[in-house]
Amino acid sequence: MDIHTLRDLLVEQIQDLYSAEDQIISALPDMIDAATDSELQNALRTHLDETRGQKERLERVGTLLDVDPDGPGCKAMKAIIEEGDKLVNQGSEDDDVRDAAIIAAAQRVEHYEIAGYGTARTFAQMLGEQEVADLLSETLDQEKNADLTLTGIAEGHVNRQAIKGD
Ligand code: ZN
Ligand code: FE
Ligand code: FE
Ligand code: FE
Repeated sequence: MDIHTLRDLLVEQIQDLYSAEDQIISALPDMIDAATDSELQNALRTHLDETRGQKERLERVGTLLDVDPDGPGCKAMKAIIEEGDKLVNQGSEDDDVRDAAIIAAAQRVEHYEIAGYGTARTFAQMLGEQEVADLLSETLDQEKNADLTLTGIAEGHVNRQAIKGD
């Protein structure tokens, strides 16, 4: 699509996020299966549920803006997921190291989303689309919380366990 206005830019960001969420919904089950730590598994499962809701929220945003959220597809998320998948499968013989790799990969996903939702939320606010901004804020908070939870698990015990390398 051509981008001439801030509204066009908002729509492009929404479509990018919609594609990203869709890819994350497909990728998370494999990450959950690959994880050993129960806290990590639970955090990823909880976030998979949240992610399904996030996709629905973007569909509501599409309705509010009268646009199709399904766009050209986010190549960056495709690459982040592929890179994470490769990372996780490279060191698969040590459970703790693999868990640390899963967290490293998952946090890259969350940070990409935080950037996208923060930007889109601010564009929506600027355009006076308060309902859209509120929906995007809700998801932004979930992404930030997911990131913090992963940091807590990594710093709480997974990284320490991975040092032992046994
Ligand atoms: Zn644990
Ligand atoms: Fe998300
Ligand atoms: Fe993208
Ligand atoms: Fe997320």
